[in-house]
Amino acid sequence: MRARQTATRRTADTEAFYADLVTRHSSDAVVISDPERRALWVNPAFTAQTGFALCDIAGKEPGSVLQGPETDTETARRIEQACAQRREIRVDILNYTKTGESFWIDLKVTPVYDPNGRHTHFISTMRDITERKALEEQNEAMRHSEELRQSERQLLALTSEWLYSAKSLEELLMVIQRAMHTLIPEADGALYIYDESRSALNLATSWGTMPDFARHILPDDCWALRRGRAYAYGLKPIQFTCDHVGKRGAPYFCLPVIAHGQTIGLMHVVFEGFEEGGIMRHMRDEVLRNRWDISLICGEQISLAIANVRLRQELQDRSVRDALTGLWNRRWFMERANRECSLAAHENRPLALISLDVDHFKSFNDRFGHEAGDAVLRGVGQVLQGTAGSLVHACRVGGEEFVLLCLDHDESAALAQAETLREAIAALSVSTAGQSLPQVTVSAGLGLLGRDGTELAQVMKAADLALYGAKAQGRNRVVSAPPRPTAAPVAQEQG
Ligand code: GH3
Ligand code: MG
Ligand code: MG
Repeated sequence: MRARQTATRRTADTEAFYADLVTRHSSDAVVISDPERRALWVNPAFTAQTGFALCDIAGKEPGSVLQGPETDTETARRIEQACAQRREIRVDILNYTKTGESFWIDLKVTPVYDPNGRHTHFISTMRDITERKALEEQNEAMRHSEELRQSERQLLALTSEWLYSAKSLEELLMVIQRAMHTLIPEADGALYIYDESRSALNLATSWGTMPDFARHILPDDCWALRRGRAYAYGLKPIQFTCDHVGKRGAPYFCLPVIAHGQTIGLMHVVFEGFEEGGIMRHMRDEVLRNRWDISLICGEQISLAIANVRLRQELQDRSVRDALTGLWNRRWFMERANRECSLAAHENRPLALISLDVDHFKSFNDRFGHEAGDAVLRGVGQVLQGTAGSLVHACRVGGEEFVLLCLDHDESAALAQAETLREAIAALSVSTAGQSLPQVTVSAGLGLLGRDGTELAQVMKAADLALYGAKAQGRNRVVSAPPRPTAAPVAQEQG
């Protein structure tokens, strides 16, 4: 009996000894507290982990010592509640060392009971999980940036779809404006396109809130245009601002827009509010680098899209433009004139046609060759093109026959227009292969909507008849009304 008791005691002693060994040498911190959560005992790992010795914490609620300004209050409240209900709880929580450094722990608080079921203690076990948390955060950040990149890719794909479906430059500019604002929301931007003489670039569109983009840029004012490649200001230790940017210190990108191997414009993207000292340096650089990548892709897409739209426009132009003079062709004239006639008739607005024909044109061909004839046609075409505008459309409808579609022109306005043209052409000096050609003159006839009919065919016919009249009267002149049909002799009344 006694022997058994001794054996049992020895086993219990051994167990206590082992338990003591474990708690003393465990790498997990342990705090034992009373049912009111006043700390009674800590193991060495606790002091190693937190810097607090038993004397710092004895009699105090451990949380009141270990928690700090960034500890999640909701988690602290959950621990509080579990202890009050004597439930076990396990949470991740931010603690602070004695010197004020924060670290993450996996905390388990367990209530313990004696054999009679009386609650006697709480045991808190704390494992340092700072490294795991850092990894988790890193993973989270990576996942987040992967998500962002994914949505950027989707946006880019969507954008390029829109860019390629734009039918005209105007439509394309609208797409670019919207797309750039969506893809790089923190930046303002502008797109410049070279003018025809290629001496300057004009502002084609802009986006964002910055109102004062330069309206024109000289190619020499921009590092990207001078060096022929994209330029980023704000990412390198040595850098200079472009002249077109002015005195602002905000980071910006300049990206040449290149179509068919030729630089046709410039995309300018500005990060206002990203100045030095604004947002944190490393964040700023990271955002900028990412936006730089996006901008490069956008620059390429936009370049291709502009080339695409220009090609499309060129093809479309080719089908409605006369190749020799650059004027609208017969096909365009017939379609447009028909539409304008019905519109003007409907709205009761005047409309005139001026039919022009080069006088003795055949003799230019016969005496100086076909080339000379072409030069005459180009010269006349240039004069006509010079008068074209939103109301006057100049067309070459046949060999040496031209028509001016004049919207909102009554008879006197159309006569004045035709007379001006006749004089300008008569004053033209045309030369070919170094040889000056004789004076070029034209005859012109007017057709008026209303006076001559309500349909295009009637007005055209009247203009042609008037033109024949001008030829018959000696050429180099303008005739308005078609010749009247010769009246049958009227019988004299006998009186
Ligand atoms: P009129 O004063 O009565 O108008 O005399 P015209 O010689 O101008 O009239 P006609 O209609 O007899 O001559 C037109 C000529 O234009 C005939 C044709 O060979 C020539 N022609 C038509 N298209 C072209 C072209 O594209 N280039 C050149 N060089 N000649 C053309
Ligand atoms: Mg003719
Ligand atoms: Mg002729």
